[in-house]
Amino acid sequence: MYLIWLAGGSCEGCTVAAAGGTHPRLEQLLGGTIPGLPQVELIHSLLSVESGSAWTENLFLAERGQLDAPYIITWEGSVMDESTAGTGYWSGLGEDPRTGRQITSREWLDRLAPKAAAVIAIGTCAAWGGIPAATGNVTGATGLGAHLGADYRSAAGVPLVNIPGCAPLGDNYTETAAALLLHLNGLAPLPELDVSGRPAWLFADTVHSSCARAGYYDDGVFAAEAGEETCLVELGCWGPIVQCNIAERGVIDGNGGCMSVGGICIGCTMPGFPDRFSPFFARPDLAAETTGVEVTQPVAGGFLRRMRLVRGRHRRRDDASPAAGGRPRAPTDRTEPADRFYKAAAPARSEGDAGLDGPASPPATAGASPGSAHGGGAGE
Ligand code: SF4
Repeated sequence: MYLIWLAGGSCEGCTVAAAGGTHPRLEQLLGGTIPGLPQVELIHSLLSVESGSAWTENLFLAERGQLDAPYIITWEGSVMDESTAGTGYWSGLGEDPRTGRQITSREWLDRLAPKAAAVIAIGTCAAWGGIPAATGNVTGATGLGAHLGADYRSAAGVPLVNIPGCAPLGDNYTETAAALLLHLNGLAPLPELDVSGRPAWLFADTVHSSCARAGYYDDGVFAAEAGEETCLVELGCWGPIVQCNIAERGVIDGNGGCMSVGGICIGCTMPGFPDRFSPFFARPDLAAETTGVEVTQPVAGGFLRRMRLVRGRHRRRDDASPAAGGRPRAPTDRTEPADRFYKAAAPARSEGDAGLDGPASPPATAGASPGSAHGGGAGE
């Protein structure tokens, strides 16, 4: 299988991200070392060894159907409207060897997409337009879906696959590519895509659902400034509504991720990014996006936290039952679980009972207990 990697309005960050994928690694795909997957030959606008006409020759071969294997297209960056470029062009990719005319990236896309076995849009620019399509955009930049149309199907009947993120997780790309390759090799069904063309198993949940700070959110404890360990929603985090698995998966090999390193979620995987999530670093109006539940969280979380504290105090008074003499434990009385177990399990010994452990312990003095060695026992 050939992988033809084309770039439009791009910063090449998606290439860097894909190169950092670890499950599986890009090298495993290129080396053909994963059982069931075909070896992948990469034709990349940046990473290939060939350049100039030697590189574009690969694209001409693909266009003429003369490659010796099917090809997948991965498109990075937004699709520029070249009709607005005047006598120039926004995004060029090689020349016509006969005329010397510049061929644009978009032209290659239009030539090659109908014959591709699959087309993957990597990154938010490719999926929805991204930063090049933000307000003020003079290039007419759009996402691949808007350009190819909702009805697009590859030569193998595969709809456009979107893997958004700015930059996306490398693992999200390599894992999806592997799933697609398995399907194209006839060994697996088509990977499940959601209504936005994203791999459904990767983008079903919100950032918030896996965020290590979500406990603080529930308790209504929010950071007032960067660097604090608590929930970052007051600093502008959009995690409660943004679909992304970065909090669960990390960036590279399980490490890193926006909230893990103190950053807010700015919604970079979502359609409408960046305009709908701007200005960054301002408290997001989550109520405008959802039912308004989240916007009340500072109040509700604070209330719930106080209720939990009350409940916690109640739990510590559980032995204030009539059977226990009706006396609550002192606040400092903490009996370790292991102490409770041994107290419950050990048979009562009579004075002078040597047993297997030697002489019995001397009678306990008032206020002392086995738990006292751990700081417990007072008042028992
Ligand atoms: Fe949710 Fe963001 Fe707070 Fe994490 S930092 S708990 S994602 S709002």
